Amino acid sequence: MICLDNFFTGSKNNVAHLLSNPSFEIVRHDLVHPILLEVDQIYNFACPASPVHYQSNPVKTVKTNVMGAINMLGLAKRVRARMLQASTSEVYGDPKEHPQKESYWGHVNPIGTRSCYDEGKRLAETLMMDYHRQNGVDIRIVRIFNTYGPRMAIDDGRVVSNFIVQALRNQPITIYGDGTQTRSFCYVSDLIDGVWRLMNTEGLTGPVNIGNPNEFTIRELAEMVISLTGSHSEIVRLPLPQDDPTQRQPDISLAAQKLGWAPCVPLKEGLVRTAEYFEKALSGTVT
Ligand code: UDP
Repeated sequence: MICLDNFFTGSKNNVAHLLSNPSFEIVRHDLVHPILLEVDQIYNFACPASPVHYQSNPVKTVKTNVMGAINMLGLAKRVRARMLQASTSEVYGDPKEHPQKESYWGHVNPIGTRSCYDEGKRLAETLMMDYHRQNGVDIRIVRIFNTYGPRMAIDDGRVVSNFIVQALRNQPITIYGDGTQTRSFCYVSDLIDGVWRLMNTEGLTGPVNIGNPNEFTIRELAEMVISLTGSHSEIVRLPLPQDDPTQRQPDISLAAQKLGWAPCVPLKEGLVRTAEYFEKALSGTVT
């Protein structure tokens, strides 16, 4: 396994336990530049997924999504590797169809502050389909819904890590807007299981939604985190970011039917495991 990372948001600590494995190699590389490797399968997960990080350098975000996909597809074509592209529920934008099926084309603002990510991922999907149709590249597209779990960065900026870190520090929990917007949170091991199955299933290009269909409001999430951590944090309200989707829930019937996949970690259990991780991370005792 060769792991490429430019370490913009990733951390070497997250793979420290793998470094002594002779089958694992890590290379500091940025996918906007081509790279030549001999591989059978390519998983392209490059691109920060947290709005705070992908909006800090939006031009770079577009380059990572578009040039990164072109470079990896060029490599896949050359060495005849199968390539899986991490796409996102963001391709549905602020959805008018609920829950979202893969057949829904989405409701995306092409000129907003989220567009570098949303449209970047949409173009990555287009590139995947065109390399498949034009050059016969063997492709898989997974549309990932909000995912959380251990090894997220303390300063990631997304809602689950923000709330848990704030709760553990007994600092105010920051709800953006009125907290009635919804998300459906998938625990990381469930996601990995779904992605693995998609890569190794024959005759299915995708896109396939992978996410947990249990939908919660952001206020419900805040209350759950406070109760699970026994925190003294109060809830405060901050302005809602531009184009923040009001609702999000995957229809996972395609994944169930074609991959035999369903998530199995309930939100409460996943939050407890994630809070245990952040407790160690905050005290500097992660191993
Ligand atoms: N959010 C929030 N407080 C935070 C971080 C996020 O209320 O400290 C909200 C955000 O406005 C959005 C939801 O939580 O409605 C999920 O945000 P996140 O950045 O995790 O993911 P995305 O918006 O990309 O789904």
